[in-house]
Amino acid sequence: MKDWKGTPWTAAGLLAIGVLVAVLSGLRFMSMRTAEPVHPGPGLGRRELLSAYFPALAGTPGDTDVYVFEGLEQGGAVLVTGGAHPNEPAGTISAVLLAENLRVVRGKVIVIPRANASGFTCNDPQEANPQRFTIATPGGPREFRLGSRLTNPVHQWPDPTLYENPAGQMLSASEVRNLNRCYPGRPNGTLTERTAFAIMELIRREKVDLGIDLHESAPEYPVINAIVFHDASAELAALAQMALQSEGLEFRLEASPANLRGLSHREWGDAAGIKAVLIETPNPVQGRLKGRTTAALVVEGKDKAYLKASRLGRLFVPFDERGVPLSDRVARHLAGVTAVLQSLAELEPEKAVTVEGLPGWREVMDKGAGAFLSPAKDGDREPDNSTT
Ligand SMILES: [Zn+2]
Repeated sequence: MKDWKGTPWTAAGLLAIGVLVAVLSGLRFMSMRTAEPVHPGPGLGRRELLSAYFPALAGTPGDTDVYVFEGLEQGGAVLVTGGAHPNEPAGTISAVLLAENLRVVRGKVIVIPRANASGFTCNDPQEANPQRFTIATPGGPREFRLGSRLTNPVHQWPDPTLYENPAGQMLSASEVRNLNRCYPGRPNGTLTERTAFAIMELIRREKVDLGIDLHESAPEYPVINAIVFHDASAELAALAQMALQSEGLEFRLEASPANLRGLSHREWGDAAGIKAVLIETPNPVQGRLKGRTTAALVVEGKDKAYLKASRLGRLFVPFDERGVPLSDRVARHLAGVTAVLQSLAELEPEKAVTVEGLPGWREVMDKGAGAFLSPAKDGDREPDNSTT
């Protein structure tokens, strides 16, 4: 090779290969910014953008789809948000499943599958997380983004050294991009604060009575398989916990700490005066004890390191050879939402919200969440509003 000399042609060839690699990887990178389609069922009343409630969000990476389902009978209004943390896939997939199956008989249900849309356009740095994971549906595989806990730094930069959130709490720097630390938002604030403000505006404008925020956390974190509740929702959460327990699903109850400000279950209750709960399931991808992070780990939830940690008594959730599959976690979220709706109907019958079309949690665990998602389609299908 010592005597080998390139020619202008070899230089041009190498340059062309370099450009091709750059273009292909650039396209792959930019594709993270494309949101996967959601295919709402015929029960959909209307599809809005979050910016409909706060026009300053229009055209920004914080704007996101809002699905509104309304029954013919008068009742209460419930908001369900997934994807406040886009690295917690069970919250997002549960909200997508709701949007694709829900029919509301009484009252109104508003679903936001990607509450922090910007966070879906990037990954958490230094985690070696896969960009996407695939869920099998009867009509073929469907891909979803595994995003970041935080707003994309390309959309909001720089982070301050210390962050005083809109509720007055001092937090560390990157929390300025954590939607679930930025409530009740600021109309002139950062992108994340404006997103939080838009959700508060939605709560006010749609006269929401109850907010349910769907999350996940690491299996070694104490607040998992839990319902976190605002003070004014203690009875609601306790009733839901009892109903879930009688069905064989264990959930802890955790009171929202009054001195931890900026979270949905605190500020939705304090600033908007609504009932507010947050549901948590265990997500091995988020934990520190996991082995290699793969798309299979996201969906199947099996991990040898967690199995060992569980045997050593280090986890707060049961973790056996079966792992914690995404479908089980989606099933728990759906059971949680259903139980909380039942509690609302019991406690405040005039605000009852009655829904149909949702699979039971055992069905979701047995058949998999994908069995209840629309098949993948070529391109985005617009929701069919012609009959509603
Ligand atoms: Zn979360």
